Amino acid sequence: MYVLLQLGWWGYLIIREDLPGNRTAMVIGEGLVFAAILIFAFVKLQQGLSREINLVRKEKNFMLAVSHELKTPIAAIKLSLDALKRNDLPLQKQTTLLHHSSSEIRRLQSLTDNILLASQLDQIETTKTTQVIPFSEILLEECKRFQIINGRDITMNIISDVHIRADSEMMRALFSNLLDNAIKYSSPESSIQVSLTSESHQCQLRIADEGIGIADSEKTKIFERFYRSNDEITRSAHGTGIGLYIVKSICQLHHFKIKVENNLPQGSIFIIQFAV
Ligand code: ADP
Repeated sequence: MYVLLQLGWWGYLIIREDLPGNRTAMVIGEGLVFAAILIFAFVKLQQGLSREINLVRKEKNFMLAVSHELKTPIAAIKLSLDALKRNDLPLQKQTTLLHHSSSEIRRLQSLTDNILLASQLDQIETTKTTQVIPFSEILLEECKRFQIINGRDITMNIISDVHIRADSEMMRALFSNLLDNAIKYSSPESSIQVSLTSESHQCQLRIADEGIGIADSEKTKIFERFYRSNDEITRSAHGTGIGLYIVKSICQLHHFKIKVENNLPQGSIFIIQFAV
């Protein structure tokens, strides 16, 4: 680029040989081009570096979050199993410890599933699936599963018989990440609404919570890999910042549109639209 600009400038000066002060103009012109290129390169380098630094920082936070998310349930399961080894434990206590352990195991399983899926999604460009799956049924199953496991009130308004061409495991991951967040970022007494509606071959899935909500400035960032909001509530909730990255990648692979809006008076609504 520099060589081309220089050639152009010199060519112009040679043609206009008659102009006085050609040498000074040549030096000034070349100096200006050189300075412009230097500034441009510096800005680009600076942008690249800050992108890299940002990514390294996010990856470091992710590794810290993952090790915390792995260590905590393992320690809890170990404690429960140690306690269960005692013979004098009342039956009620034994049942509680078993329930607690199985919920920690579920947490470990969903974390490892998410990590594996995120690394697979990085390499997939299109879904190979030709399978038609019962979308409404899978959504209903996931909602009921979350309701039972978490003891939360989930209001379901799901039209039946929506069948689409999609990967069923990915659909389960999509629903479970959105439901998990709706539960995690809202108080246990609040309700969650899930609706699936259809109008002229366009379906709309809405998962609404009455939780802490998402600031407008964060609405696009939350879909980035490893991104976690910096506020106190998010940091104290368990998580690694890959859930919504997975959700967005699955939506892209299936040509779904996804957006997030404010729920009124409080909370968030994740909206997914697709054609049937
Ligand atoms: P994680 O929940 O593990 O932090 P996610 O990728 O699922 O990671 O979400 C990224 C961030 O988006 C969260 O850290 C949180 O700040 C925000 N977020 C996601 N879902 C919700 C929700 N339903 N309500 C409020 N904030 C949310």
